[in-house]
Amino acid sequence: MAKKQFKAESKRLLDLMINSIYTNKEIFLREIISNASDAIDKLCYQSLTDDQVGLNRDDFRIDIIVDKEARTITVRDNGIGMSMDECENNLGVIAKSGSYQFKGEMAEDNKAGEDISIIGQFGVGFYSAFMVADKVTVYTRKYGETQGVKWESSGADGYTVSNCDKNKVGTDVVMHIKADSEEEIYGSYLEVWKLKALVKKYSDYVRWPIKMDIEHQERFETGEKYDDGSPKYEYKMVTENETVNSMIPIWQRSKSEVTDDDCIAWYKEKHRDRKDPCALVRINAEGAVSYKAMLFVPGEENENAFTGDNKGGITLYSNGVMIMEKCDKLVKEYFEFVRGVVDSPDLSLNISREILQHDRQLRIIGQNIEKRIKGELEKMLRDDKPKYEEFYRNFGVHLKCGVCDEYGRYKDFLRDLLIFYTSEDRQITLKEYVENMPESQKAIYFASADSVKHAMSLPQCSEVKKRGYELIYLTSPLDEMVLESLREQDGKTFCNVVTDDLGFDSEEDKKAAEERDVENREFLDFVKESLGEDIVRARLSNKLGDMPCALTTEGGITLEMEKYFRRGPSEEMRKVRANRVLELNMEHPAVAALKDAYEKDRDKAVKLARILSTMSQMMAGVEIEDPAAFVGLVSELF
Ligand code: ADP
Repeated sequence: MAKKQFKAESKRLLDLMINSIYTNKEIFLREIISNASDAIDKLCYQSLTDDQVGLNRDDFRIDIIVDKEARTITVRDNGIGMSMDECENNLGVIAKSGSYQFKGEMAEDNKAGEDISIIGQFGVGFYSAFMVADKVTVYTRKYGETQGVKWESSGADGYTVSNCDKNKVGTDVVMHIKADSEEEIYGSYLEVWKLKALVKKYSDYVRWPIKMDIEHQERFETGEKYDDGSPKYEYKMVTENETVNSMIPIWQRSKSEVTDDDCIAWYKEKHRDRKDPCALVRINAEGAVSYKAMLFVPGEENENAFTGDNKGGITLYSNGVMIMEKCDKLVKEYFEFVRGVVDSPDLSLNISREILQHDRQLRIIGQNIEKRIKGELEKMLRDDKPKYEEFYRNFGVHLKCGVCDEYGRYKDFLRDLLIFYTSEDRQITLKEYVENMPESQKAIYFASADSVKHAMSLPQCSEVKKRGYELIYLTSPLDEMVLESLREQDGKTFCNVVTDDLGFDSEEDKKAAEERDVENREFLDFVKESLGEDIVRARLSNKLGDMPCALTTEGGITLEMEKYFRRGPSEEMRKVRANRVLELNMEHPAVAALKDAYEKDRDKAVKLARILSTMSQMMAGVEIEDPAAFVGLVSELF
């Protein structure tokens, strides 16, 4: 039979596995068992709605069969099985090859030991068999098909696949164990006690029985008696087919049986996450709806670029039967990063995504767990700020989007989870901000730029700081939308220091400013004319501190939003422009010089206006369209 070649990246991974110096080779068993368990989950689920399956829940099992002489370990399941196409697609290539490639390239720079940490992260679990086996043969029959399929590979040189007889649905993975070498006694994996220990260690919570033939010494009465009349015994080895795992899912167990550390270890293994989760919520609810839940907030944001999928997602079980993986309707999108399990005997087994939203039980569970997650996050914010800040760096964006979603419907649920960076070099909630406000302060001041550093240096901030008020620094258009959606905090409204009236001017001040504007009308119009499309108008400002000028905007679109749109996907979006206003500080010598030139030398005045306008753009972090022209203008001044 002609050998088929593995796809290039699968081959590389196989090479890695085969020549692995990875010390933790024993995890191969966990990987193969967990595939078997998933396959059973699928068939069990099918059996809920399909009488043809012909198996009861109790009939499902995983067998580990050892043949020392043939040096094979077989992991057998009566799960869903694979068709020929599936064998090719699932075992012949790495499904998420793109992501592997990406990680693989990174791994090349790493030490060999670290390379292998990619095992299991990208759906490559099956390949781990090659760490201990020099040949793997899979006999499988898919549910609904009459023919079996045999897939075989001795490693990186390729694989064969053909039809075969198989009388039952399910899969046998036969691993031919490598010969012992100086570094590794592979033969130890053929010891029943060792395999049993590995099942206990890694697969104890698998819901399906993992069965092995285990030899015991047993005592039998011989029928003879000692002089004192007591029976004589002899000891014989008997083999019994035993279930070696405890089978009770970890989330079904009480806190006294299973520690939080156990749950975290389970999470890391199950989700192939090397990082500890940053929060764990365990719920055992009884009442209107009974359920158990074990939920985790991952320690880092999903590695989209690597895996293409989101790390979040809650799996739904009903009495230990998985009914939906990644149930995305249970919690709202703002908590979609939460992972874990919800298990409730009250859920209907054949729930579908469509009816999910309308299911009363699920809605109640969803609301409850949202409250618990929020409570846990609030606790973290209170008790361990640095940890919360890290959480927020990873997932804050979900909360912010949540505040803006559905016209702010969830804003009050989420507002106390939002933190903002301020001029006091700290991150605080809006509630804390308001609590710290001095009596005289009327509004919540914020400045928006593409970075904190930049926001900090905006000239318009100086007036606020001068009064000793704290400023919130926003660093994305999303932040601005969040404030827009929140509208207020404890009765205090938000004030954008760049575009809004700071409220510092008395009525007299305002009147004087108006008069000044009228007086300077022609001058300001001249500045606008000189700058053409760059601005919609020029105006005077007394809130620029030591700076001669600043760029601000009118209307709904701010400079930050404009920057965001410029990176947008459509031409139309990229054309969106803010209405820019050039603010001039009449107290500043540079503006006085401009005014002077306006009166005496109009050509020079045009040039000075351009210089000031470009300076204001620089300070606002706006891209300078023609830096050379600016340099030319400045050079003329010398
Ligand atoms: P992962 O399990 O992370 O997807 P694997 O490399 O371990 O990655 O397995 C690849 C795929 O092969 C599985 O997703 C599954 O579709 C299929 N597969 C593996 N083992 C079995 C099995 N025992 N029964 C049915 N399908 C299996």
